[in-house]
Amino acid sequence: AMAIDEATRRRVIAAVAQAMFDHVEELTALDQAIGDGDHGLNMKRGFEAVMADIDTHAAKPLPEALSGIGMALVMKVGGASGPLYGTLLMTLGKQLPAEPTRAELVSAFGAAIEAVKARGKSDFGQKTMLDVLGPVHAALRDGGDLDTTADKAADATVPLKAIRGRASFLGDRSIGHMDPGARSSALMIHAITNVLET
Ligand code: ADP
Ligand code: MG
Ligand code: MG
Repeated sequence: AMAIDEATRRRVIAAVAQAMFDHVEELTALDQAIGDGDHGLNMKRGFEAVMADIDTHAAKPLPEALSGIGMALVMKVGGASGPLYGTLLMTLGKQLPAEPTRAELVSAFGAAIEAVKARGKSDFGQKTMLDVLGPVHAALRDGGDLDTTADKAADATVPLKAIRGRASFLGDRSIGHMDPGARSSALMIHAITNVLET
């Protein structure tokens, strides 16, 4: 089983938040192309709230930390991404033991993706964050490289037509742009693997 201690929890939280802060403009530009241009600021606002309570979050065992961060995102992010990332993290928190095995992590991540689908009435192939989360889940299960998988999966949203979220209002005009939530998901994966795999 993986013991992720308090110092590591703190580093993961800070790394994910910093990744969002460092890419506000990129996420904004992606959302300006096919949405309402607020994804960068939504993620920034959410993770500013998380960082304001980082001591509290990091001090909790992994499941409670994930649930607490998920709840902060639900409360602070005023867009579709808040409840969806919140659902992902809260479900992970509900499903994971404090020191998960790899198999337990794979299983909990699968359940969390299903919870996002239920909350968003969405599925893979609709040009959303799910199009990165799904392939990353498969790579985690199959021992693939999470970072290359996440980047390829985000790139693979470019030719898709959006079926869910604001980008779906554009119909065919959503084709040719990367989905902002797919990109923020890939950024989170990079930040997490950076801390846990080094
Ligand atoms: P909003 O669209 O409300 O302005 P954001 O811009 O913060 O919220 O987030 C948009 C992202 O949320 C999209 O790029 C997409 O990845 C994701 N998203 C939106 N709707 C759904 C849904 N129903 N299911 C899954 N992901 C979704
Ligand atoms: Mg938006
Ligand atoms: Mg919005």
